[in-house]
Amino acid sequence: MAKIIDGKAVAAEVKRGLKEKADFFESKYGRKICLAVIIAGDDPASAIYVRNKVKACEETNVKSLKYALPASVPQSELNELIDALAADDSVDGILVQVPLPAHLDEREALSHIPTNKDVDGFSAENVGKLVLKEECSKACTPSGIIELIDSTGVEIEGKRAVVVGRSNTVGKPVALMLLERNATVTVCHSRTRDLASVCREADILVSAVGKARFITADMVKEGAIVIDVGMNRVDGKLYGDVDFDPVSAKASYITPVPGGVGPMTVAMLLNNTVKAAYRGK
Ligand code: NAP
Repeated sequence: MAKIIDGKAVAAEVKRGLKEKADFFESKYGRKICLAVIIAGDDPASAIYVRNKVKACEETNVKSLKYALPASVPQSELNELIDALAADDSVDGILVQVPLPAHLDEREALSHIPTNKDVDGFSAENVGKLVLKEECSKACTPSGIIELIDSTGVEIEGKRAVVVGRSNTVGKPVALMLLERNATVTVCHSRTRDLASVCREADILVSAVGKARFITADMVKEGAIVIDVGMNRVDGKLYGDVDFDPVSAKASYITPVPGGVGPMTVAMLLNNTVKAAYRGK
């Protein structure tokens, strides 16, 4: 039976360490580290994510500035707000909650965030730096996944890792990070042939697909580490991508949903913010 990787506990540990660093920053530089969070519109899921991020700021002694814009906000106004925050030396990180309302261009908005304040790690420059193994803000969910795997004590180096999903925010960056840690990595997607047999090769299986009960026990090798990134609402209840009970019977470690990858994503956002603040000094 798999051991549950407790994302909440690992995230709490990370946040404890970050609070110490944020306290020290405040005592040394006479101001709090500061994260600006911009949300446009009233998407309920986005509102929950933003609330969690603001709460995590409070827990780590990071000041949060929340800008709630109407769904109808013109692109120019959003861009101008980002430009003003970019120019403000007391703001260390800027986050634009996505998805944005349909009339807004996400890439255009994100391009206004300077690389040193891009704490989501989504900018082209930060993604490029990740590829080149240069110091940068790394995407939060993938960084959290690596921390969770490390929390098991199992060495990543030399393992066969299979990532299902190739999004810019999860699949691709986590594949790069696993590669950087010397795993042998395969990335799967909707055109992958015989997905089940590829997944069965995985010592570390990461699923970022967005379909409830997609990863079934027959796709999992005995003793694999299974990381479930999926967040799928079915009849108001939250499910991961993994068919949890049968897969738990085969895996060595598994992340639950909720309480696995989700809390780590927020902790790693704060980690990027604290790092950005120190880098700016
Ligand atoms: P996404 O952009 O929709 O990407 C989904 C990926 O899954 C795509 O690469 C797609 O392949 C692949 N896929 C879809 N159907 C497939 C199939 N039948 N077989 C194999 N691959 C298939 O999603 P995302 O943004 O990466 O998010 C994935 C999930 O993670 C969602 O449930 C999301 O809510 C969740 N998530 C959670 C967190 C967290 O903090 N816990 C953070 C981010 C995302 P193609 O590229 O070929 O279309």
